Amino acid sequence: MVPHVERKLLLRQLKNYLVFLRETGETHIPLKNELGDLPVMVKPGGTFHDHTTLNNQTDMTSASIKNQDPGDPVQRLSEIRQEMGDCQRCKLCEGRKNIVFGSGNPNADLVFVGEGPGADEDEQGLPFVGRAGKKLTEIIEKGMLLDREKDTYICNIVKCRPPGNRDPEREEVDACEPFLIKQLKAIQPKVIVALGKPAASTLLGRSVPITKERGTWHEFEGMRLMLTYHPAYLLRAYTLENRRAVHEDMQKVLEVLNT
Ligand code: URA
Repeated sequence: MVPHVERKLLLRQLKNYLVFLRETGETHIPLKNELGDLPVMVKPGGTFHDHTTLNNQTDMTSASIKNQDPGDPVQRLSEIRQEMGDCQRCKLCEGRKNIVFGSGNPNADLVFVGEGPGADEDEQGLPFVGRAGKKLTEIIEKGMLLDREKDTYICNIVKCRPPGNRDPEREEVDACEPFLIKQLKAIQPKVIVALGKPAASTLLGRSVPITKERGTWHEFEGMRLMLTYHPAYLLRAYTLENRRAVHEDMQKVLEVLNT
């Protein structure tokens, strides 16, 4: 028997996932079959299809949904923000002053993903405007010689401030993640940089040991993903080794941006 609290959590996660699938235009629910990774699709009507046996018409429909042109990123981001509305999907709404959706250039080749707004960000409704933000701006402008506003877009895994700047909880990340994914798919940058363990773990769907994996390339929905330290961590552990690590990671990003 699954304990009641765990069951409630599972149901909530399932609901969030189903809402996410619907909102991203899915018409089928991808399942795994017991024999391995072969995707099995269940249609809303309830019939199961092994995807290898889908008829051409259904196949075409799935393919066209997957390859859909994301449209104008400015327009898409505005639609996504509107869809969030005065979000009450998790308890972070209770203490927030402002939703911190994201800022920068929706057509940028480079997107930074942080963890969640702090007090300054909550106050202003903009990401990375406090101390960690100044560090990030310095990394972008002095380290990479890019312009923060023109060359990047910056957002977080959760859009509302966790009280006392604690780490966002699983349910909070689950409620907000669909919007992050939509933002990234709308912008389609050449490179996404995950800042710190929570962002890296959210985007990769597993617990990422950031000290081990920073500086390595990954993939997120067909986009290249680099993992690096969070600027707040850099400020806390301001060693030459850590600063050099972030600098090297950003040079790898620049190499890809310049190809
Ligand atoms: N830290 C984050 O992860 N995001 C912000 O927006 C600010 C600080």
